[in-house]
Parts: sequence; structure tokens; C-alpha cells
Amino acid sequence: MTIPFLSFEAQNKQIKPLIMQAIEEVFDSQWYVLGKAVKNFEAAYADFSQTQFCIGVANGLDALHIALKTLNIGPGDEVIVPSNTYIASWMAVSFVGATPVPVEPDPETYNLDPCKIEAAITSKTKAIMPVHLYGQACEMDAIMAIAKKYDLFVVEDNAQSQGATFNDKVTGSFGDINGTSFYPGKNLGALGDAGAITTNKSDLAQKAQSIRNYGSQKKYYNEVIGINSRLDELQAAVLNVKLPFLTEWTQQRQAAATIYYRELEGIEDLILPKIIIGATHVYHLFVIRTSKRDTLQAHLNRNGIGTLIHYPVPPHLQKAYQASGFNPGDFPIAESLANTSLSLPMYPGLTENEIVVVCNQIKSFFYAQA
Ligand SMILES: *Cc1c(COP(=O)(O)O)cnc(C)c1O
Repeated sequence: MTIPFLSFEAQNKQIKPLIMQAIEEVFDSQWYVLGKAVKNFEAAYADFSQTQFCIGVANGLDALHIALKTLNIGPGDEVIVPSNTYIASWMAVSFVGATPVPVEPDPETYNLDPCKIEAAITSKTKAIMPVHLYGQACEMDAIMAIAKKYDLFVVEDNAQSQGATFNDKVTGSFGDINGTSFYPGKNLGALGDAGAITTNKSDLAQKAQSIRNYGSQKKYYNEVIGINSRLDELQAAVLNVKLPFLTEWTQQRQAAATIYYRELEGIEDLILPKIIIGATHVYHLFVIRTSKRDTLQAHLNRNGIGTLIHYPVPPHLQKAYQASGFNPGDFPIAESLANTSLSLPMYPGLTENEIVVVCNQIKSFFYAQA
């Protein structure tokens, strides 16, 4: 039996006729950029996000980059980011010319540790970018309180956590302006690249909408220097079909996680994801930790089980950030997570039987070693 790390099979089977119909409708409409499908999706996703506005863009990195640009964050400014995030969070900050300032996560929840944020705030700090990593909402009450105290913007990176909540409020609705990604493997995935910005502020919404389309609200009239980062009609049509299924697919991920917890509790040094009080987890990824990560991964691989590492090298040790002068040891929690984390198969349609097979292989690995 082989169990891939990620499979679209079950979800694709469920929606294929609807997707084909939606694609055909766009094809027949003869309108392929910023049309009805994008408008409909923006309204539906704003509704899902409990925000007043949603602006569809080309991908998640652009969503974050445009969000920061909309806030006039640029050279000389600092933005607080997690030390252990996917590098897109950092690069969005770097792309606007600002400096990402890393703050370590809680080693058990993998999310930004609110207790460590204040020490990183300087007179140059303009914003905090919480990342709801692996699908779990950050401690948003504490983060929003710090932002308020120091008069900072909050830009949520909601790429991995569509539908997660903190104290019943959905992620992507806390910050001043927030970004998400619909990269195919994300919880809500397009058939290619796509992303969105969410906000409750109409001035920010208007400006972001303008920046994503050449700084223009009215064709051939350009108010600001913008970029071309529009959400395609085809991708919007696909997302319109998928969004109504997202809650059901999230429940399937959560059910899968429950089985992992049941099967994997108390095995040697294995650490399972810890849930933050008040937060929900939509299990974009199910990330376990062990000091024997590499040999466990090899064992699972030999037995037909796909796993990935999110992420093997933390941003501060990437070549891209060499010029920032970071050294190994600067962010020990991020470095330790990079050396011990392993993401197990997780997707809607993953069966209980398959999860038990994965867990039995993990157990046989540890028991054979003992
Ligand atoms: C995927 C991801 C992004 C970027 O999304 P793209 O659509 O691939 O550009 C940003 N932040 C995080 C945390 C992500 O996982």
C-alpha cells in the first residue's frame, strides 16, 4: 500500500463535473480577466472570511506584498515575522524594501510567541505579520493587544489556515489587511496560482485593488504605480466551485488529525502538535517532531508513505538572506523545528485505514529501534 503525502483524488472526483462546467462557462463568456467569476468569488470569500472586502490577486506572495505596499510600508521600516515561517512571509516584507525582524515561535504550537514580540519592537517597527502556521490560528488577542499598544499594523499571513478561528473569529479578519494563498496544495486550492487580500477598511481595499491592477481603478487612468497581479477568471471560477466544500474538507482534515492523535500519543520522543487555548486548527499540515526525524522519514519512505519537511531550512539561514548577517544559532527554536519536524500525509479523503497504516509504520520504526 502506498500513501502519498498529498492527493487530490477524492476531492477532484467529488467536484469534477462542477469544475468542468465552471471552466466551460468562463470559456464561453469570452471575458477572461476581472469579470463575473472574480467578482463572485471576492464576495463569497469576503463572506467566508467575515470581512467586508476581498481582493483577488495572482498568488499568496503578491497578496502579502500588496498588503504591505497598501500600508505604505517600505525602506527603513521593520516588520515582525515568525522565525520559522515559509519564506514567502519574509520575502513579501523584503519586496517592499522593508526589513523582516524575526521572532521565535512557541516550540509546541509552532506559532509566533506573543511573549517574545515586544522585545523585537523598535522605533522602526511598522507592522506585525502573524502566520497561522500549518493551519492553527495564532494567539490573536494577545497579538492585537501588542499592536494596539505600540500603534502597529497587523498583516495576517493566512495562506495555511483558511477557516481557522481564534475565540470564534476567523483568521484573515483580525489584521488591518491580510493575505492568503490558493496555491493548489493549500486548504482552498486553485488549479494553479491564486491568492486574495481581505480587509474591513474600504480605503485599504480600494488602494489594494488599484495596486493589483496597474494602480488603476478606471481603465487607462493610473493613480499609483502598481503591478499586474490579477486573479484569473478561470481560477476564480474554480475557487467558486470549491469554496462551498471547504468546511466539509476541513472537517475531514480535523477527523484525520483526531486519528493521528489517538494513534501516536506517547511514543518515545514523538511530539504532536499542541493546540492553543481559544484556537482552532484546520490542519493544512499535520507536523510531528522527533530527534530521529531523518531516519523515520527514510523508514516511512521505504514503506511507501510520503512525508515532507516544512521547512528544512529556516529563512534566516537561506542564501537569500545571507546579506542580513544572520548566523546559525540566532534563532534556535526555528532551527530546532527545521531539524526535527516531519509532515505526515494530510488531505481530504485520507481514510482511517490509511492513517492507521501510517501510524503503525511509525510505531514499528520506534519499537524496532528500542
Ligand atoms: C503558500 C504560502 C505563501 C505564499 O503563497 P503563494 O501563493 O505560493 O505565493 C505565503 N505564506 C505562507 C505561510 C504559505 O504557506
